[in-house]
Amino acid sequence: MQQVTPAPVTKLIDEFSRLPGIGPKTASRLTFYLLRHSADRALTLAQALKELHEKVLFCSTCFNIAESDPCPVCSDEYRDRSVICVVEEPLDVLAIERTREYHGLYHVLHGKISPVEGIGPEELKIAELVERVNTSEVEVREIIVATNPNLEGEATAMYISRQFAGGQLKLTRLARGLPVGGDLEYADEITLSRALSGRSEM
Ligand SMILES: [Zn+2]
Repeated sequence: MQQVTPAPVTKLIDEFSRLPGIGPKTASRLTFYLLRHSADRALTLAQALKELHEKVLFCSTCFNIAESDPCPVCSDEYRDRSVICVVEEPLDVLAIERTREYHGLYHVLHGKISPVEGIGPEELKIAELVERVNTSEVEVREIIVATNPNLEGEATAMYISRQFAGGQLKLTRLARGLPVGGDLEYADEITLSRALSGRSEM
């Protein structure tokens, strides 16, 4: 039987479908969108995809994504080198940078401990963090563990704190409470227990 859909169309739909969160329907829609628009539009996308791996690398110190190694944060002499904020993903660095409240360094784990997905501590950049702290030229005084406030994030934070147990190093966790406008009864137990233990005087 003759193939009705041209092979390049099928191929692109196939490639889009492999991306997280994109089903066959969305993959078709994206493909036909690009087909209907100018070739320039498609080529700009292709160029961006090409440059993604050509020009982006991981900083060998903090493992954030960057165009240079060390990254701009690690090579910034005005940053406080005695504080390291540990996050799960590069996007978390962006979120914290946007607050303009933090002037220390970062360490990107590239994931979280998740037994369900078969991700153990050795899959993350935790050993690299320990090594980094132990060999740092400037003494690291504090590690802010800014993993996400869910079960995996908490498990990861616990694991990290155990790696530094008994040392001089101060380990802190982001303060968290109940969301503004949220109902106490709908809060999950982790949020609620943290809100309780982190309570402050009125
Ligand atoms: Zn870096």
